[in-house]
Amino acid sequence: QQELLQQFRGKETVSLDGQKVKLYANIGNASDIGAVIKNDAAGIGLFRSEFLYLENDNFPTEEEQFKVYKYVAETMGQKQVIIRTLDIGADKQIDYFNLPHEENPAMGYRAIRICLKQQDIFRTQLRALLRASAFGNIAIMFPMIVALEEVLQIKEIVKSVMAELDASGIPYNKEIQLGIMIETPAAAMISDDLAKEVDFFSVGTNDLTQYTTAVDRQNANLEGFYYPHHKGLLRLIKMAADNAHKNGIWIGICGELGADMEMTEAFLAMGIDELSVSPACVLPLRKKIRETSVKERQEEILKNVL
Ligand code: PEP
Ligand code: MG
Repeated sequence: QQELLQQFRGKETVSLDGQKVKLYANIGNASDIGAVIKNDAAGIGLFRSEFLYLENDNFPTEEEQFKVYKYVAETMGQKQVIIRTLDIGADKQIDYFNLPHEENPAMGYRAIRICLKQQDIFRTQLRALLRASAFGNIAIMFPMIVALEEVLQIKEIVKSVMAELDASGIPYNKEIQLGIMIETPAAAMISDDLAKEVDFFSVGTNDLTQYTTAVDRQNANLEGFYYPHHKGLLRLIKMAADNAHKNGIWIGICGELGADMEMTEAFLAMGIDELSVSPACVLPLRKKIRETSVKERQEEILKNVL
């Protein structure tokens, strides 16, 4: 099986009828990069930067972060590396953050909400990311977006950090792509507005499923109430894809559903541009896409799932 898959290394990820997909990998640690290269992913679609904070017993410094981001960017060469800013809170708690105890942490103080309130933490990470962008093909992605105002505020902060770097003559990629995760129903619903402000979308189906179907992703008692192919979820993804394309930006999926081969046809039919999956899923998914064609049956496929 493994040997059979090896023949898909170095091959393009393209469907039988010529639709190209960027097939990227998700990583949670810089040491996962070996698996990304071994499985021949075309880039990194989600680098969960939380581990830098989880592994430390204090806030990682700008220099510590810079070294890791630079290493990943350099190792990937020209390939795109999408680094997600801190997504802490909810299921991921860290002592030194001193976050308040919450009754409902999944809907609480987490991810971008922390970054927008404690901007010193956010600015340190942005400085490290921007500095590292001079050494490779880095894009920055922001989690848990709900409102347009959040995106506008983020862009102001990025601009101000860039101005700071300019003033010190520190190089960075001035054209760096900024994207957001679509992982709340609100973000999908207003994706037409959001698409005008960012360079790409990446759908976080783990959280989008949780918030759409009101099923806590951590709660083992809800077995049987988990609907990964719920039409409510798939219609939101389709809506975000249409709005992305209407506004000339690309859209990917970096949640677990991206690797679900029962959905591959549907995602191709929606015109999803990128799929980011765990490194071990890259070659099996490339095989699947290369054996799939959707153009003739596009409407039928979508009608069945939506
Ligand atoms: C998601 O929510 O689908 C996602 C990719 O992010 P995480 O699993 O880290 O919340
Ligand atoms: Mg998420």
